[in-house]
Amino acid sequence: MIFLPLKDRENPPARLLVGGALRQIERAVINLDGKEYNATYYPDTPIIELLRACSIHKLQLQPGDRPKCNYCESQLEHGLTLQVEHYRPKAKVEAGVNDNIELPGYYWLGLEWTNLLLACPKCNGKDAKGNHFPIRGVRAVAINPILRGPRGQISLDRSQTKAHAQPLSAELPILLNPEIDHPEDFLTFDLYANISGHGPNAERGNVSRDRYKLNRNLLVAERLDVWKAFKKRIEVDIAGFELGVHNDAGLQYLFKVTCRELLERKSLEKEFTLWGRYINDNIVDFINVYVAPDYQDRFNQAYDEVVAEQQLIPA
Ligand SMILES: [Zn+2]
Repeated sequence: MIFLPLKDRENPPARLLVGGALRQIERAVINLDGKEYNATYYPDTPIIELLRACSIHKLQLQPGDRPKCNYCESQLEHGLTLQVEHYRPKAKVEAGVNDNIELPGYYWLGLEWTNLLLACPKCNGKDAKGNHFPIRGVRAVAINPILRGPRGQISLDRSQTKAHAQPLSAELPILLNPEIDHPEDFLTFDLYANISGHGPNAERGNVSRDRYKLNRNLLVAERLDVWKAFKKRIEVDIAGFELGVHNDAGLQYLFKVTCRELLERKSLEKEFTLWGRYINDNIVDFINVYVAPDYQDRFNQAYDEVVAEQQLIPA
């Protein structure tokens, strides 16, 4: 999970403000039922495309771009379709962290722009995030955000519906929201790509990890593969050096090529950016564990040189 600041929270896509969308909200409010949304609006192409672009820190997708699940940072191409996810569940809420207290959903937020995220079915499924929404504060009171004018004209009052603002923020949600929270303050890794909570609010990290299933087996294996590919390259380069294929300068050159690619893993467009940043922030520990002792200093020096070179490049 990585911080996603690009969405224009004050200006929802026009599709969410058309009369039909507002009438759906009104119907859900009147019937106190989030099932009133017939899924016409939030999976609409412009909305999905904007969410997909924001997931890799862009406002518009380019050919070849690979959007990511907002929770696990898996890219679409892993055979799963990214879905529009309601951060606050619209139809019903399972409220407990460990128990199953069931409450009505946030039916008035079914088409609220700041309530819509993009998630893969593995993070969003019934046995994962599903309808769960535990909080530490007081559950928000339902409101009617639809205004009817004297001639029946309909409009939306979003003053109390934004996920990042009062009164909803006073609920103190436990599950991390990548558009509001900075995941690196709550989540860290070990050298084997397992996620755990950390920092003063480690509980939010741990509950989010469990709820979004961020340590599911395949996901951990895919994250670890990112590092293993680098480890393999380092080993091949060392083998070439020991066989006399490369001299000292050649090995140093190859290490620096690897280091440049390692640093690219910090990029927001890459899959598993939070993990890529963890690897880079803790590169000395990874090298200590995974690289033959005779070559550790040499690799670390190459890494430092590449970092220094990149700092000289004007932004
Ligand atoms: Zn996911």
